[in-house]
Amino acid sequence: MNSGLLVVVSGPAGVGKGTVVSLARERNKDIVFSVSATSRCPRPGETDGVNYFFVSRERFLEMIREDALLEWVEYCGNYYGTPKMYIEQELKKGHIVLLEIEVEGAHNVKKQYPDCISVFITPPNLEELRQRIIKRGTEPPEVIERRMERAIKEMEHLDKYDYVIKNESVEDSANQLLEIIEKERNRLNNK
Ligand code: 5GP
Repeated sequence: MNSGLLVVVSGPAGVGKGTVVSLARERNKDIVFSVSATSRCPRPGETDGVNYFFVSRERFLEMIREDALLEWVEYCGNYYGTPKMYIEQELKKGHIVLLEIEVEGAHNVKKQYPDCISVFITPPNLEELRQRIIKRGTEPPEVIERRMERAIKEMEHLDKYDYVIKNESVEDSANQLLEIIEKERNRLNNK
């Protein structure tokens, strides 16, 4: 049986990492996605249990108390966290488990799973990132600014990641991500 592989993908909000990850998942059905819990409200088109488990702040705090989360953060005013049980189950089954989380969470996961691989997706440049967040049209101006500030801070952590992908095209970035996964999986299986 293949060894399980934990893959952590980060990148500033609006960089398009969700699209890259979705395409990679379409092409490699061995990849399973860890659905995070969040206290943020759903955006149009987002589905509970698919994009996130959308919960109240109270429920989120309860999950922390129950020790149900592998890691959690407060990000731009909302809570986000990775449910622990799903990851453990899927890794035991030998699956590739993909987490799409911000830098602080990625750092905490790496501490607990040193064998995980971390990938940072960068925008071609910061102006393009601002334009993408504006174009998405789901955030008010003050939230866009907060997310931009956070994006700039997140870019400072880039050198802590095992791999960096510059997202110039979704197609190329998804292929690069799949190549990284393949390479790391072979390495683990040949250990
Ligand atoms: P968004 O609100 O744009 O969906 O997500 C905001 C940020 O939170 C993104 O960088 C996303 O990757 C990150 N995020 C989503 N789920 C989690 C999680 O479970 N843990 C952590 N640490 N960050 C998360």
